[in-house]
Amino acid sequence: MKSARIIGPNEPLEVVESENPTPQDNQVVIKVKAVGVCHSDLHLWEGGYDLGDGQFMKVTDRGVKYPVTPGHEIVGTVEDMGSNVSGYSKGDEVLVYPWIGCGECPACKVGNENLCDAPKSLGVFQDGGYSDYALVPHYKYLAKLDGVNPDSATSIACSGLTAYNAIKKSNMNSPEFLVIIGAGGLGLMGVQIAKAITKAKIICVDLDDSKLETAKEMGADFVVNSKDPETSQKIISICNDKGADSVVDFVNAPPTAKLGISVLRKRGNLVLVGLFGGSMELSLVTIPLKSITIQGAYTGNYNDMVELLDLTRKGTINPIITKRYTLDEANTALEDLKARKILGRAVINP
Ligand code: NAD
Ligand code: ZN
Repeated sequence: MKSARIIGPNEPLEVVESENPTPQDNQVVIKVKAVGVCHSDLHLWEGGYDLGDGQFMKVTDRGVKYPVTPGHEIVGTVEDMGSNVSGYSKGDEVLVYPWIGCGECPACKVGNENLCDAPKSLGVFQDGGYSDYALVPHYKYLAKLDGVNPDSATSIACSGLTAYNAIKKSNMNSPEFLVIIGAGGLGLMGVQIAKAITKAKIICVDLDDSKLETAKEMGADFVVNSKDPETSQKIISICNDKGADSVVDFVNAPPTAKLGISVLRKRGNLVLVGLFGGSMELSLVTIPLKSITIQGAYTGNYNDMVELLDLTRKGTINPIITKRYTLDEANTALEDLKARKILGRAVINP
């Protein structure tokens, strides 16, 4: 098989040939049709996350071992199966749930493998889908596409799933005004999902007018370009001068997190999702006085993925795929994402 692998931080990905995996027991080999290119692949390629103040969290300290094949938004057909696999046949079109856990910790025991203490996620801690074949450890991580377009379905495994989980959290206080920061792969899914599952008026924020234009088409009621120094006041005035009930920050860097807090009204809810990183100071007293909730959201569980796949099948959600690359173009795909040239999601079709 042929895979585009990260061999070390910031080094060009290498396209290498290796033996096709032979599935044992519950394992399934997928012939990859499409794999989404996520900003998290860029963090993996860069070697870690910005902690602020010149500090850096290395992915190798979190258990990543290079070389690794990235790609956690994997769609393909069943190619080969271990002897225990049931319910699947060769050629079935499937989406892969990549957020695999240990199966033993408290999170795994209640079905939240995405929050596992010792994660084994595909495309991060194990080889993923920037490859023509991918080995999935258990058939329970598969979901049949049943008519969903393969390129579109990739988004359901991460960008859609993460946005779904984050928007559900932002909806806990039944927001009248919901601010979505970042109109990239995750944020544009967030806008569509918020339109579908909340009653909120949606205000979308980004630095890029073309992305904001798409956010409007996806259902944002208002858009604000945060290059404008008056962004915070603009948002508060849209929210009847009271501020937003909820903010979902799909960037989560100091300028966006500060913006999020500054526009929150009393009883407001801030959901931090992006991994752009950095650090910031908080005015502690405002948190109890305004009774603000600040929470993180990390991907979602298998059941959420299946629910979202269903919403996509019904046409409620329509993932935006604007660019397609071959496996040999994996470096270009990541460079283009870094240079903010991708609208919505790009996929690699091996
Ligand atoms: P993307 O590159 O597709 O989109 C990022 C968007 O943010 C772009 O539209 C860009 O213009 C905008 N942006 C960047 N800086 C900004 C700023 N200062 N103000 C306003 N807008 C700004 O990325 P993506 O694939 O959507 O991922 C977004 C982030 O979420 C990444 O850090 C990624 O690693 C992370 N992520 C988190 C989870 C999770 O479970 N928490 C899951 C997947 C991805
Ligand atoms: Zn992702």
